[in-house]
Formats: sequence, structure tokens, C-alpha cells
Amino acid sequence: MRRPFRLALPSKGRLQAPAAQLAAEAGIEASDDGRALFARCPQWGIEILRARTDDIPAWLDDGAVDAAIVGENQLVEAGVDAEVLARLGFGRCSLTVAADAAGAVQHVEQLAGCRVATSYPRTVATFFARRDVAVELVKLGGSVELAPRLDAAEAIADLVSTGETLRQNGLRPLATILASEAVLVARPGLEDADRELAGRLATVVGSVIAARDKRYVMLNAPDASLDEIVALLPGLDSPTVLPLARGDMHAVHAVVDRAQVVELLAPLRAAGARSVLVLPIEHLMP
Ligand code: AMP
Repeated sequence: MRRPFRLALPSKGRLQAPAAQLAAEAGIEASDDGRALFARCPQWGIEILRARTDDIPAWLDDGAVDAAIVGENQLVEAGVDAEVLARLGFGRCSLTVAADAAGAVQHVEQLAGCRVATSYPRTVATFFARRDVAVELVKLGGSVELAPRLDAAEAIADLVSTGETLRQNGLRPLATILASEAVLVARPGLEDADRELAGRLATVVGSVIAARDKRYVMLNAPDASLDEIVALLPGLDSPTVLPLARGDMHAVHAVVDRAQVVELLAPLRAAGARSVLVLPIEHLMP
């Protein structure tokens, strides 16, 4: 008998909490306390493997899991080819080459003959090889930004999100090797039934992600200012306008960008909108 579809989720680290949150919002909830390494998810009829994100590419590659949430950079480093089902909008970072901010190096080409410390040797080697810049890679498990200070390397290539760690360590970014975020991926070569399930996962997870940046606005508009109020609200297709029982007002419903809400409230009030409600959306399929 075929084994159930298996989804790998990060067991620890930066991606763990946002991935667990997203999975819960997509109804991917395990029948355990959230800590077991292996659990069943009755609602989706799948198995959940909680794994270190570093290990997930290998699990995908050998077919031990069918889909996973993982950092894109980790797939690239492992050289694993997986189909991106959804980009998840968290775990954003870039693999960046950096050197001493007070030094003379301004461009990666000037690093020829230098030592570059990194935890991502494969991706970094490809980057320098493509530019025909010969460097010596110093492979480190972590704290890569210390290497120049310790005279263990002239430059580093590490993951950066805010850039604060680079600044604190007196390093200047020279180039971005790769921009990355967390992704939902499926392994290549899934059988039809598993491919169909992966498609459903992508739809539901995608609907949760799409909903996060949107809000549902409901309000009542006096008929005299209905056009003005509707013009303020773009909506997904166009706002919904429904008559109220009392006869001289309409309810207006619209989906708006989350970031727009604060700018909209005062103009809506000025235009005569009443009983304004702004609600989060759980799923959105545009
Ligand atoms: P972990 O080592 O399990 O905490 O996961 C690290 C993963 O989080 C990386 O491979 C990236 O995909 C992602 N990430 C996002 N921002 C950063 C950052 N500033 N440093 C390291 N990893 C980051």
C-alpha cells in the first residue's frame, strides 16, 4: 500500500514558528502537542515530519517527504530541484558578500586570491566561478561575520536580513548572491494523487498568504454620499453595495490592502461613512 503524503515542517530555528503558524491557519494541524518529530494530520490525511531545515532538501531529494516548508537558499545550497508551490513571505534574507567597511575592497572582482568565509560553500563557489573570480572558501558552521576580525578571511558570504549584524561587525555589503524567502515546495515526480494533494495544499496555503495583507471593510453609507464612498474603496473586483432595510442607506463591503486602512478611515468618516468595521480575512482567493 502506498504511504500517506508526507509534509516536512521546520522543527526549530527561524522558520519554525512562522511555518507552524501558517500550517495551523491552513488547517494543517497535527494530532499531537506540536513537538513530536512525526505526527498525523487527520484533516488533510497526511503525515507531518518535523525536521531541521538543513536536512529538508535531502529528505525531499530521496523521496522521504513529498512537500516541505524550507528556505529557498537551503534548496539552492543542497542543489535540490523542487517545485515551488507557494512563496510564503517570511524568512526573507539574502546571501550577501561583505568585506571590511574600512578596507579598499568595493567590488567582488577585487576579491580575487582572497579567502571568503561562508556556511554556504556550494552557492558561493558557483557565484564566484560564474564571475571568473578565484577565491579560497573557508567553510564555517556559524558566526561567519567574525572571520575577517580573526584574520581567518578577507571577506564573508552570509545570510543577511536587516544588515545590522554586518554593520555591527564593521562589514560592508558588496553583492547579493541570492535573495531568499521561505517556500512551500513539492518534490519532482509525484504520483497523480499526491500531485493533486500538493495542488490543494498550494491553493489553501496561498489563500492564507494572500489574505494576510488584506482587510475586509464593511460600512454603512448614506445614499447621498454613496458614490463618493464607493470611489474611495477599490475592492478586489469592485465593492459590494447592498440596500439597508431602513431605505436611505446602503451597506458597502470591500477588500482593501492592509496598509491602506489607516489612510482610508478619516476620508471615509469625512464622506459620511457610519458603522465602519475592519476585519481580518482568513483565506483569500483573488
Ligand atoms: P535556522 O538555521 O533553522 O534558524 O534557519 C535559517 C534559515 O532562516 C535560513 O536558511 C534562511 O532561509 C532563513 N533566514 C532568514 N533570515 C535569516 C538571517 N538573517 N540569517 C540566517 N537565516 C535567515
